[in-house]
Amino acid sequence: MRPVLADVYAAAQVIAGIADATPLVPSPHMTDVAGQEFLLKLENMQPIGAFKLRGALNAVAGVKEASGVTCCSTGNHGRGVAYAARARGIRAVICMSELVPQAKVDGIRALGAEVRIAGRSQDDAQAEAQRLVAEEGLTEISPFDDPRVIAGQGTIGLEIMAARPDTEVLLVPLSGGGLAAGVAMAAKAIKPSIRVVGISMDRGAAMYESIRAGHPVEIEEVPSLADSLGGGIGMQNRLSFPMCRDFLDEVVLVSEEEIYHAMQVLYYEDRIVAEGACVVGLAAVLSGKVKVTGPTATIVTGRNLDMEMFTRIVTGQDVKLGDVTVKGQPYRGRA
Ligand SMILES: *Cc1c(COP(=O)(O)O)cnc(C)c1O
Repeated sequence: MRPVLADVYAAAQVIAGIADATPLVPSPHMTDVAGQEFLLKLENMQPIGAFKLRGALNAVAGVKEASGVTCCSTGNHGRGVAYAARARGIRAVICMSELVPQAKVDGIRALGAEVRIAGRSQDDAQAEAQRLVAEEGLTEISPFDDPRVIAGQGTIGLEIMAARPDTEVLLVPLSGGGLAAGVAMAAKAIKPSIRVVGISMDRGAAMYESIRAGHPVEIEEVPSLADSLGGGIGMQNRLSFPMCRDFLDEVVLVSEEEIYHAMQVLYYEDRIVAEGACVVGLAAVLSGKVKVTGPTATIVTGRNLDMEMFTRIVTGQDVKLGDVTVKGQPYRGRA
């Protein structure tokens, strides 16, 4: 069943006091660039360093007393599930591929969850999670294709619309689409005229390709500065695909170079440390790919990055991603 606005309000009750009410702050520099007020919803300040705690808390709260929970994850969902499971005192087994940065693996272990590294893609990690469901009776929590996860992420939309009802454009980082589905559904239920744009990296943009094709398609997963946006949407996708198709006004893609530059902008101009996945909304505006028409908000989705790579970026050095190199450039103000 597709979640609706009432489910988002119910999720807000579940997560209250743990994962709600992050700040929505203006970015003077991006306001200057965009020519419109530009706001940052700081989900990087969540207890696990990413918004995924919202959906995970809501989903784990809905699990009947079971032998435990499992999930596949590019890192942040696993951290959210680990946190929520620990709070409920149940077992969590998090399945991830070798592409997940070590910093994220360490963060999950520190929360007391078991970690399984399986294969080189999200699909491999998901196969391992399904094996655990079949063999050990764990309950699987999808990172994006779950009504309670989508409703949990949608609470970000509620908070933005409550704080700034005059918001006209929402720029939402897009991967499996749980975040975009929940936020767009909630925001449009409250204000039908709002424009919601999903943004992905241009290498391995599964939801973008799926919406174009009219059905879920498989993509090749490659390393990206926006590692949290990697992975497919699942060939059996039931909810996040149709919701993103119906609620997003458009999907825009940004390059690794544009993500690199936007990470520098957010760091030097707003003094915020955030993952590549978080800055795609800024990158879309900085590159001129999205023109905004009124007060605009983007979601700074998380801060769980590899500090060594981040240091290379803010000091303008080249970054190697598998067999491609993102050419570095020191930050020189507005490009
Ligand atoms: C998961 C994640 C996203 C994308 O969310 P989806 O629901 O998969 O579209 C964006 N940014 C960060 C930091 C994430 O962890």
